[in-house]
Amino acid sequence: MIQPNPELLQAPSLIANQGLQSSIAIEVRHLSVTFPNGNGGLRAVEDISFCIEEQEFVCVLGPSGSGKSTLLRVLAGLLPPTSGEVYFCGQPLKEPRREIGFVFQKANLMPWRTVLQNILLPLELQNVPNGEARQRAMELIDLVGLRGFEDTLPRDLSGGMAQRVAIARALVHDPQVLLLDEPFGGLDALTRERMGDELLRIWQARRKTVVMVTHSIPEAIYLSDRVLVFTPRPGRLRLDLPVYLPRPRNDEIRYSPAFGELAKCLRAEIG
Ligand code: ADP
Ligand code: MG
Repeated sequence: MIQPNPELLQAPSLIANQGLQSSIAIEVRHLSVTFPNGNGGLRAVEDISFCIEEQEFVCVLGPSGSGKSTLLRVLAGLLPPTSGEVYFCGQPLKEPRREIGFVFQKANLMPWRTVLQNILLPLELQNVPNGEARQRAMELIDLVGLRGFEDTLPRDLSGGMAQRVAIARALVHDPQVLLLDEPFGGLDALTRERMGDELLRIWQARRKTVVMVTHSIPEAIYLSDRVLVFTPRPGRLRLDLPVYLPRPRNDEIRYSPAFGELAKCLRAEIG
């Protein structure tokens, strides 16, 4: 296993999370998931253990089919572990919870609903009173930079805009944890970078815990406090790499020696 230059693993004084009380938002203990396939079962993830602190931004990297989406579905409470345990704020996670929001690669908006109506949906399901729901949805529309598009239908949105709506919808009931499964996978490179900055801005404004699956090494480094790397299937935790780059992050950082060193290290691990 290649390790980056040890100097890069020392936390500089500019870390955003510095000084915050740390407490564990998510704990995964010896998680394995096997899918039935009529042939002894297909093991998707195997014996994964890690903790994620509140307000941490963690990216999950790994080859296709290594169980990243499976892990995220378990963290969302959508899929029970075959063995092992998952805890959310110290409580066993048994089912989906309001405190955990989820964004998929495809925005999955309802085509007949406007931007505002799509974002209102989770609040309608919770019977939040109309006035309050509308106010919260409009705040989110501002936060994701879609003011002026409230009444637009999904067919008239670009891919990046649709993903912003999906992020706003996942945040509207103010979940503590945001899980994102390759949310920018369908976007062109520049839009993707801009969406990354947008997500960091939202994360910083709302102080969420974020777990995001991505295929992109630079994206993982640019965004996160830590990168978890999976092995090929069955996914095991191959590396848990802290990213001690200063925040707020900006384009300059992509060209820094520390960034290059981390990218090299991750590239070598993924193969
Ligand atoms: P990744 O997101 O890393 O590409 P996935 O978690 O989607 O990987 O899948 C891991 C493995 O589990 C793959 O081999 C996939 O085919 C299999 N798998 C995922 N979901 C199911 C399911 N519902 N039923 C059977 N096999 C599944
Ligand atoms: Mg996946």
